Amino acid sequence: MKPPAGPPAGWVALVGAGPGDPGLVTVRGLALVRMADAVVHDRLVPPELLDFAPEGAQRIFVGKSPGGEMRSQDEINALLVGLARAGRRVVRLKGGDPFLFGRGAEEAEALARAGVPFEVVPGVTSAVAGPATAGIPLTRRGVASSVAIAAGHGAPGGATGRTDWGALARADTAVVLMVVKRLADVVGELLAAGRSPGTPAAVVQDATLPGQRTVTAPLGGIVEAARRAGIRPPAVLVAGEVVRLRDVLGGWDTRSLSGVSVLVTRPRDQAPDLSAVLRELGAEVIEAPAIRIAPPRSPEPMRRAARAIAAGRYSWIALTSANGVHALAEALRAEGLDARALGSTRVAAIGEGTARALSGLGIRADLVPEAFTTQALGKVFPRAPASGGRVLLARADKADPALTAAVRARGWTPEDVVAYRILSAGRLPAAVRRRVVRGEVDVLTFASAGTVRAFLGALGERPAGKVVCIGPVAARAAREAGLRVAAVAREHTIAGLAAAVVKAAGRRAR
Ligand code: SAH
Repeated sequence: MKPPAGPPAGWVALVGAGPGDPGLVTVRGLALVRMADAVVHDRLVPPELLDFAPEGAQRIFVGKSPGGEMRSQDEINALLVGLARAGRRVVRLKGGDPFLFGRGAEEAEALARAGVPFEVVPGVTSAVAGPATAGIPLTRRGVASSVAIAAGHGAPGGATGRTDWGALARADTAVVLMVVKRLADVVGELLAAGRSPGTPAAVVQDATLPGQRTVTAPLGGIVEAARRAGIRPPAVLVAGEVVRLRDVLGGWDTRSLSGVSVLVTRPRDQAPDLSAVLRELGAEVIEAPAIRIAPPRSPEPMRRAARAIAAGRYSWIALTSANGVHALAEALRAEGLDARALGSTRVAAIGEGTARALSGLGIRADLVPEAFTTQALGKVFPRAPASGGRVLLARADKADPALTAAVRARGWTPEDVVAYRILSAGRLPAAVRRRVVRGEVDVLTFASAGTVRAFLGALGERPAGKVVCIGPVAARAAREAGLRVAAVAREHTIAGLAAAVVKAAGRRAR
């Protein structure tokens, strides 16, 4: 049977994005984001999750804009129905769980009414994750066996004044969301409904995010304590005997970089490994690529080099980055060649990334210096035989001339060929610039001298924050630009750089 004519059937998935840490989305939720044609999201959704949507997917923000404008719920419902009817696979991403104070129910009702197929993917709600990450379980055998959850705007004068505060006060554990503005009213209601002022209470702000903060006090004093601490939304209030367990269970997040913000300036296609390692250690990672890699102005010199390789004219090829390896592979391919063209030509590689990229081509480097710097490669490079020999240096346009000189000093004839160009990535996003200048980014990382110069050029003023470099060359560039370098990686690798970040942040490796 032929499928019915007409547009492909669209659908909507109401997906819980979790409380803030992008790692707390479900596997199912992420799978749907990865296949979405459109992602409709609001303010509390982790921005990192949007990066998982396919490149061409529409990203539609329907939360409060900076001017406070907000789309009405009817408009959002109509948008979802319209997109699905146009055949789109729509992911409606909502903070926490979509069916807890997220107006997910209203959207699901609208979809059901319109006959649009939809599914609901539950999420980790802040009502549970907020207390949990502050070391507060909602129940505990012998301490608490019931929980009630309410919204703060249900307090008198709020948007919905219909909350049964008595029921909330009688539950062993009370959790209140959307609570910061109305904290005094909410606490007043709980006390009026009979909850003792001595009840342990906590307010947890930015739960599961790098800036997570927790304030504890007896219920009678929590309003003042939160005010003094400058607690801001989003935050949850939790009240009940379980809050005492925090004394034993709090502080479990001992990851080396939890609470530390780190700027990653590597180009985007190379940043993921560094960012992933830093996030794994608990850091908040801010990606602001300072440079981008571009092909050489003319492909001809590299292609000529590829032909010379095939003709056996080089004794050595020296590569200093994965970009150089990719450029070499591309030049060989363009000449109808592959790795076999190298024959007995030997290959030297700086850095594990370079060696790894080479092994991707089936080439094992003959020489990988122990210290991953250009100088180190120069030092361990073998002496040329009496008959001499040519060495191809396939590197960036602004490559360090020290390597060329070192190779020549060892009796070889070096031949520098531009394999790729390093360009500035251009303007820094305004939000990143603001945070860097104000000192709201703890550590700035640089994986090359080029990124140091390009980043400072784009910033145009002095950054605050500790500077950490992958090796001595990048560190020298930073010092020359007047920066104080807090740490240089001992091993010039991603792992080494991450370890140096831990050190600069004054943390201990676990
Ligand atoms: N559906 C969401 C709640 C949406 S209402 C969920 O299940 O979590 C928005 C409220 O959620 C905020 O006012 C705040 O009370 C709470 N909230 C969301 N993210 C939070 C976070 N990271 N830390 C603390 N509270 C959070």
